[in-house]
Amino acid sequence: MKGLLILSAVLLAVFAKEDFSGHQVLRISPADEAQVKKVKDLEDLDHLQLDFWRDPSFPSSPIDVRVPFPSVQSVKAFLELNDIKYSIMIDDLQPLLQSEQQQMLAIQSKARSTDTFSYDTYHTLEEIYDFMDMLVAENPNLVSKIEIGKSYEGRPLNVLKFSTGGNNRPAIWIDTGIHSREWVTQASGVWFAKKITEDYGHDEKLTAILDSMDIFLEIVTNPDGFAYTHSTNRLWRKTRSITAGSKCIGVDPNRNWDAAFGAPGASSNPCAETYHGKFANSEVEVKSIVDFVKSHGNIKAFISIHSYSQLLLYPYGYTTARVAHQQELDELAKAAVTNLASLYGTQYKYGSIITTIYQASGNTIDWTYNEGIRYSYTFELRDTGRYGFLLPAKQIIPTAQETWLALMTIMDYTLKHPY
Ligand SMILES: [Zn+2]
Repeated sequence: MKGLLILSAVLLAVFAKEDFSGHQVLRISPADEAQVKKVKDLEDLDHLQLDFWRDPSFPSSPIDVRVPFPSVQSVKAFLELNDIKYSIMIDDLQPLLQSEQQQMLAIQSKARSTDTFSYDTYHTLEEIYDFMDMLVAENPNLVSKIEIGKSYEGRPLNVLKFSTGGNNRPAIWIDTGIHSREWVTQASGVWFAKKITEDYGHDEKLTAILDSMDIFLEIVTNPDGFAYTHSTNRLWRKTRSITAGSKCIGVDPNRNWDAAFGAPGASSNPCAETYHGKFANSEVEVKSIVDFVKSHGNIKAFISIHSYSQLLLYPYGYTTARVAHQQELDELAKAAVTNLASLYGTQYKYGSIITTIYQASGNTIDWTYNEGIRYSYTFELRDTGRYGFLLPAKQIIPTAQETWLALMTIMDYTLKHPY
């Protein structure tokens, strides 16, 4: 009977959701800018339904694109006709999604405390929100929960505040999951939260940080998108807001900030994955952070965490102009990725967004840097493309552990280099 119940749960979970059978992820390696443009132009052919997992950034890295089954033959024919090199990165997405589902369903019992919570599996929004409440209840003198707003669909935008007192102390902001399908980021955010409560009072560096600074952590920065990745489409990236006059839903919340909004490096097509929205801060998930940062007024480091590609990036994304603190940000990034690699050997590249990956306008950390937050960084966590957004759950804890070393490097530096 129990077996039957589990089987029906699996079937229900599979059939209620978008099916990715036969979808392939192609890794395209353009030989020159003209080939990049040819590939990029495919994005505006809405009928192909292409989903760019990693955007063109010639010549530093290839383009990864998910191609739905009905488009696979025509896209390959197009690439071959134009002599554009490609390989098949993921042959069929559906089996990967199914094993991820089965792994989640294998965790039957609900955690009663953050000590019995399973950090090595992916969780639903409800489970993560329950985790936050447990963590607050267990650590009332260290952790509190702030609601900085409500999402487009009315879900609370919860931020954990780690503080040992004081009044409006200098602070560090960390967010994960602004792109909802980047599941290893929310899962790492959960692990970071627990790690802070374990290390305070035990780890000398973290204790020193929290004795004079606060840490704010928004784990599910795009809760509508995240709920949708569980209920309907595992590969949903954007918000879930409705754009008047378009059949397509959602805005890219990492192109919606008021820093060169709408400039090259974002799309004006509401169906594109990088659609910037109607105006800067149109997305309440973005606007709520903007309002929080402005009203706080004392945030010294701002770290926004994405996946995948294994990168540590600093501003700018919209221009090749160097930021005033380029050298300092570069040296700190180098130290952070060196410490990250010390645990499992995971290699990260680092540099400014535009020189390391691609032009991206309206992104989070360009805005926070221009707002005066010097230590503004974006991470792209594991991997480099074997699994992309579908990183197996057994990699959650190692990913979080190594990333924590890089975060500690940045936070410790922020404490020791006030400005
Ligand atoms: Zn992202």
